Amino acid sequence: MNNYPPGVTGREYEIAGPDAEWTETKEVYCQWEDCPHFEKEVEVELDVESYRGQWWTTYTCPTCEKDSEFDGEIETADPDEAWDNRDFD
Ligand SMILES: [Zn+2]
Repeated sequence: MNNYPPGVTGREYEIAGPDAEWTETKEVYCQWEDCPHFEKEVEVELDVESYRGQWWTTYTCPTCEKDSEFDGEIETADPDEAWDNRDFD
């Protein structure tokens, strides 16, 4: 039983939220051209979210304090498997 309208399963991102959330060290860079750190890669630990095989994260540059967004595809197609492979450190 659910109260969702036809065609809505309750699994939609807006309702169910991300399939997974985890913290991961990623190589990212500032995407703002006017920043001295523009496109200078740094390794930082970021909160990553995923939904339906896509992940995304936001890096806030400590220099200009603007956000850069990164996303991509999860290598394992199965979101449950991606969940199991999370790094719990
Ligand atoms: Zn910056």
